[in-house]
Amino acid sequence: MFLVSACLLGLNCRYDGGNVLSRKLIQLAKRYTLIPICPEQLSGLPTPRESCEIVGGDGFDVLKGKAKVISRSGLDLTEWFVRGANEVLKLVKLFGIKKAVLKDLSPSCGVKMIYDGTFSGKLKRGVGVTTALLILNGVEVLTEEEVLNKEEED
Ligand code: SF4
Repeated sequence: MFLVSACLLGLNCRYDGGNVLSRKLIQLAKRYTLIPICPEQLSGLPTPRESCEIVGGDGFDVLKGKAKVISRSGLDLTEWFVRGANEVLKLVKLFGIKKAVLKDLSPSCGVKMIYDGTFSGKLKRGVGVTTALLILNGVEVLTEEEVLNKEEED
């Protein structure tokens, strides 16, 4: 069983109302149960919504209260992102989920890299808020590329 960022499965939950469908990832549904989640929608934020970036750190720092999630127009949406992450954690506990495939670069779902908080398109190493909370709760979080590479090796 895999938790999966819903936008990777073609659901139109991205901030711009679109998705980033991965046809290869959908093939995993033949072998595994895929549970789609979008932490930002689960937080109660609308779609479409403003794009956001983590300022002052990454998802772990947000959970420690040392960094914030800020929208492009400057709104502090930290509380919403933490709420969304906690809603996802409820599903993880309910279904006993041990693995997740999340969308890299997102302030919620980023696994390896996230935007650097300047809204200039620059990236920095770090994880999103939901990814951080899942890792702290023992979930293995992979990027789409990592899970597809693993599947090819098996
Ligand atoms: Fe996709 Fe995650 Fe962003 Fe939702 S929060 S649109 S699932 S990357």
